[in-house]
Amino acid sequence: MLGAVAELTGSCLCGGIRFEVTKPFERISACHCESCKKLSGGGGTVSGRVPTGAIRILAGDGLVRTFQPEEGSAKTFCSACGSNLFGGGWPESEHTSVRLSTLEPPYEGRIGSHIFVRSLAPWEMLPDDGAERYEVRGT
Ligand SMILES: [Zn+2]
Ligand SMILES: [Zn+2]
Repeated sequence: MLGAVAELTGSCLCGGIRFEVTKPFERISACHCESCKKLSGGGGTVSGRVPTGAIRILAGDGLVRTFQPEEGSAKTFCSACGSNLFGGGWPESEHTSVRLSTLEPPYEGRIGSHIFVRSLAPWEMLPDDGAERYEVRGT
């Protein structure tokens, strides 16, 4: 089990949306795909996977927007500040990827895998962190 904390809290940059995660993450992965680059403004996203039912929106329901790209799963963000919150098809999907960048205090766990490393940008370097690397999706 990753992390002993059973409850995590997160928010967007403007603070309008607050949520909690009531179960520990099943795994942590860094996604370097092109969609995650676009939406993150950086090398990609780092997320913890949980059953979708473990996520509870505490404030800012009306600010939450979900975008379905042509490829891949739906991404959820704050319509006021643009912060990326979830991936993986929330709220319909069985599992959701919670962006670690939203969590307060900062999440203590480490990245277990780097996925979609085939989409690494020329300006992007993979850290020498010992995590598994996958060309596309992880196992
Ligand atoms: Zn916001
Ligand atoms: Zn991605």
